[in-house]
Amino acid sequence: MAHAKSFVASLLLLAAAGPAFGAARIFIVTDMEGVGGVNNADEQLLPGQRRYDESRRLLAGELNAAVEGALAAGATEVVVWDGHDGSRSLSVDDIHPRAKLIQGKPTPANYYLSDRGFDGIFFIGQHAMAGAKGGVLAHSQSFSVERITINGTAVGEIGQVAAIAGYFHIPVIMLSGDQAACDEIRELQPKAETVAVKRLAGKGSSLSISHAEAKSLIRAAAERAGRDRPLR
Ligand SMILES: [Zn+2]
Repeated sequence: MAHAKSFVASLLLLAAAGPAFGAARIFIVTDMEGVGGVNNADEQLLPGQRRYDESRRLLAGELNAAVEGALAAGATEVVVWDGHDGSRSLSVDDIHPRAKLIQGKPTPANYYLSDRGFDGIFFIGQHAMAGAKGGVLAHSQSFSVERITINGTAVGEIGQVAAIAGYFHIPVIMLSGDQAACDEIRELQPKAETVAVKRLAGKGSSLSISHAEAKSLIRAAAERAGRDRPLR
């Protein structure tokens, strides 16, 4: 995803929320490393790997649960940005019939985001930043990056997207991913709804809830995020 250097000041806008008026347009950022049951970078993350198709199916299940929740909360538009592996992981055949899909690269934020162009951002399948304590498959853009900062504050992909969204006055209102990713968004946006679908158990191992339970919790959190959160 794009670097956020020019959006530094916007971190300060993250908490700038106003009166609730109901969700209308939701932008969903997806990734794969934070999907429940995804644990192994050698088997589950890239095309051609043994369990890649399973990962795609699990991601689509979590994603569409979030879309259902958003629609139940009254969303009129849901746009999905495929954020994993060069934006080539999802198919239009995977996504909810009422959602739209952004794929391919480059996909700079200003192609799709504009000032108040959406009412809220969801993250689905999100992982924590490089070096995050307790993170499952934690990294920032690539597994070779040690640390990225914005004005001295360490950020991962969550903080970068949140900063860009904040620049456009769009709050992050919901995240599903591993426990460390949930903790990371709540540091930036304490009001965000979060669903922890797994947590690190030991080096290289994780404890996940079932896919059925993940979908149920994500749908409910997405609906709450759409209904209850102050959106601007
Ligand atoms: Zn990824």
